[in-house]
Amino acid sequence: MATFPISRSIRQFADRFTQAGFSIYIVGGAVRDHLLGRKTNDFDFATDAQPDEVMRLFRSVIPTGIKHGTVTVLFKGSSFEVTTFRIDGTYADNRHPDSVKFVRSLEEDLRRRDFTINALAVDATNGKVIDFHHGMDDLKSQSIRAIGDPRKRFEEDALRILRACRFSAQLEFSIEIETRSAMASLSHRLASVSAERIRTEIMKMMESPRPSLGIRVMHDTLALEVVLPELAMGDNISQKGAHRLDVLQHGIAACDSAPQSKPLVRLAALLHDIGKVPTKRVTESGETIFYQHEIESENMAGNILRRLKFSNEERNIVLNLIRNHMFHYTPDWTDGAVRRFINRVGTDAIADLFDLRLADQKAIHGQTHVENLVEFQNRIDQVLKQSTALTTKDLAINGEDLFRLGIPKGPIMGVILKQLLETVLDDPTENEFEKLGTIALKFYEQRILHPSRNHSPTSSS
Ligand code: ATP
Ligand code: MG
Repeated sequence: MATFPISRSIRQFADRFTQAGFSIYIVGGAVRDHLLGRKTNDFDFATDAQPDEVMRLFRSVIPTGIKHGTVTVLFKGSSFEVTTFRIDGTYADNRHPDSVKFVRSLEEDLRRRDFTINALAVDATNGKVIDFHHGMDDLKSQSIRAIGDPRKRFEEDALRILRACRFSAQLEFSIEIETRSAMASLSHRLASVSAERIRTEIMKMMESPRPSLGIRVMHDTLALEVVLPELAMGDNISQKGAHRLDVLQHGIAACDSAPQSKPLVRLAALLHDIGKVPTKRVTESGETIFYQHEIESENMAGNILRRLKFSNEERNIVLNLIRNHMFHYTPDWTDGAVRRFINRVGTDAIADLFDLRLADQKAIHGQTHVENLVEFQNRIDQVLKQSTALTTKDLAINGEDLFRLGIPKGPIMGVILKQLLETVLDDPTENEFEKLGTIALKFYEQRILHPSRNHSPTSSS
């Protein structure tokens, strides 16, 4: 009989409940993960005490989800989520149950949960494991199985379809056959699940050891067509040259190959080539090309990230990586070219962009070619040491200074600052107040005030 180690503080916590005549159990992920030998820090408890009764038992209680019966108890340095035994009403919006009904038995509470491996409970007073749904067997056979009739469970809440995919990536489990076939026949219902809930599951997949396990189940059950149709479209779109995989499989392989500790780089890897689908052309000479696919990938990924309500910051990180993934460094790049690359990508994003490149290579060739990147990194370090300015903010002169020299504020000022940066990117020794002032006035005079006196044949047409 499996038991769960009850720490001193959990024991004392549980005693408060039992002394008041209530029962208290550890439930959900903590039990599952402990039985799998994984670390758990996040304890969820279930009790027959009503939320207001729990609030009376402890001094510091935050009513975090009181509508659904959840409060957070701060106890001896830990924070414990406690939820009253409940059964859920319908999920009309596929988001939250419309209503919850508190019940008095653990058994009823466990029956409303999604999968057997998530419906194990531990008596918090003695560590005894309670298993009404053969969750232990499914943990042993590494299987994700819905509790009861899988169709009904996915009809109640379609997000569970995506949760099954996520758990399969997170735990490296397979999905029991009836559960899987119910997922396939109901995956269209994911269309009405809220963006936030979908985003959470996608990101948990990205943080998993092998996101491919989850994405492939999504693809096989047609959930991918509903949630990420832009990615699903890459199925069977063949590439060229060294590529063995189609656009979809290449994205999936690159995603697995990116560092697990960088979920946003993994997301960028998954989506970096989706623009190859609409840009694919075969030239007259029979060559397959994907002209400017990185721009199309960026646009399509932008739509996905907006739809799934990623923050602006997350979106910028991912889109910057996708937009810039097609660089081709060679040792004959001038220092100016290296500085322009740094300026375009941003110093902070270079390591991530290199991780994306390595993941891309690994997905294509099964291995990485680090020499070129190592050399490029050395060049970047060298250039960074010598460089005096990489953005307009680093220039020895600013907009206020230029205004005092007689250049009007407004869009012209921006154009001139950009021009000064170009000069300094080519030659860092130009980054001096006097020199830049002179260049700025000359530029303003010749190109803005009197452009006709100085136009070149190419710019006049
Ligand atoms: P993790 O915290 O690693 O994501 P978890 O299993 O703790 O995994 P949570 O989302 O924290 O997952 O949910 C806690 C428990 O609540 C689950 O183990 C499961 O029993 C139940 N649960 C969560 N979401 C659902 C759902 N949509 N349908 C049914 N039961 C759910
Ligand atoms: Mg949890």
